Amino acid sequence: MKVQRIEHGTVIDHILPGMAFDVLRVLGVSNERSMSILINSHSKKGGKKDILKIEDVELSEEEASRVALVSPQATINIIVGGSVVRKFNAEAPDVVRGILTCSNPNCISNQNEPITSAFRLNTDDGHHYVCSYCERDQVDLAKRIRR
Ligand SMILES: [Zn+2]
Repeated sequence: MKVQRIEHGTVIDHILPGMAFDVLRVLGVSNERSMSILINSHSKKGGKKDILKIEDVELSEEEASRVALVSPQATINIIVGGSVVRKFNAEAPDVVRGILTCSNPNCISNQNEPITSAFRLNTDDGHHYVCSYCERDQVDLAKRIRR
């Protein structure tokens, strides 16, 4: 399947296979946007990847960092006038506020209190996020995205 180039917008490449829809959720991109989604595309380097092309949206680095929550190896390309004007890697943010919900039902951040959920990156053992309120390790971040 060939996908048309876009003139203006954001191309997110090297998304883990099958994670494109989680990337859209974590970004909060409206599904009324014009976009192309490639699932399990064959990568030139071997293996498979997903690719997202979102028209007329230029992601900021802060927004792009959210992509790393569900797909750490992704690259973000900002396209203007049909060419790449900026390219950066999705860097996992040190702190994530408000985007995820804690997996612990008894956590104070799940008690309808006027507080924003907060998680910090722990790199002692791989790459994972720990709740700042109850210290619970969040296992599957894609499932923790606030709806
Ligand atoms: Zn918690």
